[in-house]
Amino acid sequence: MTRLLCNCFIKGISEIMLIPLEVKLELQGKWRQAQTLRQIYHHLIFGPTYNWQMISDFIRSEKRLVFLAQKEEFFRECKKRYESMLKRDLDPDRDSVEGKLKEARESSSKAHQDLWYERQQRFRTLSAIPDGPLRRALLVRLQQRDFHLSSSWQRAQCAAMGGCCGRSCGCCSKPRNPDDDKKYHGHCFSYCMCCTDQRGFRIEPSNLEDDPMHTFFNFSQGRRLSEYECCLLDSYIWGLL
Ligand SMILES: [Zn+2]
Ligand SMILES: [Zn+2]
Ligand SMILES: [Zn+2]
Repeated sequence: MTRLLCNCFIKGISEIMLIPLEVKLELQGKWRQAQTLRQIYHHLIFGPTYNWQMISDFIRSEKRLVFLAQKEEFFRECKKRYESMLKRDLDPDRDSVEGKLKEARESSSKAHQDLWYERQQRFRTLSAIPDGPLRRALLVRLQQRDFHLSSSWQRAQCAAMGGCCGRSCGCCSKPRNPDDDKKYHGHCFSYCMCCTDQRGFRIEPSNLEDDPMHTFFNFSQGRRLSEYECCLLDSYIWGLL
């Protein structure tokens, strides 16, 4: 009943009236209530037929950045290991190790470039999201640098996929590409070197969608969202999960 009254109240007010309410809640430190207000307003105004495509592109871009940061770091670490093998003369087949070293250098450099392009893509996608409660909610969420760690849902997903949140190594709390100027934080994909060592074999997906540690999502218009997709929105956009 309270929720119903709340919905009727929110639906009856205009967005111009909503913003001071959001600000007031945030000034009181009640950012979760402010996000919930934006979420309810968005659902009441736009309804279940809202086109989530732009938001889907943004979430995908966020995930790709973490994936590529791990990919770059993975090949950088491979490079270090091959260099160490050559230095210590551990492998009798030096030509083979030198070939692998060359490949690791090229793959690391390619991932570095892909990361640059994806950063521009993310910026363009974020810029295209129109003003409104959803954009305001997203901007608040983006200010929370360690939101992926405060999200128990994301940590549980990571652990369920065999990621580092299921162990005590703490990799998810560290930057994924510590040697780069622009650092990215996030949960594990297959290129996480710690997960690779733990797993005992390498998985080298060419893109995010091929990664077995990535869960498929599809926000096509008119399609009913899965439970996973609803959780993605609650976590990545509203910052409430
Ligand atoms: Zn990991
Ligand atoms: Zn780890
Ligand atoms: Zn994790």
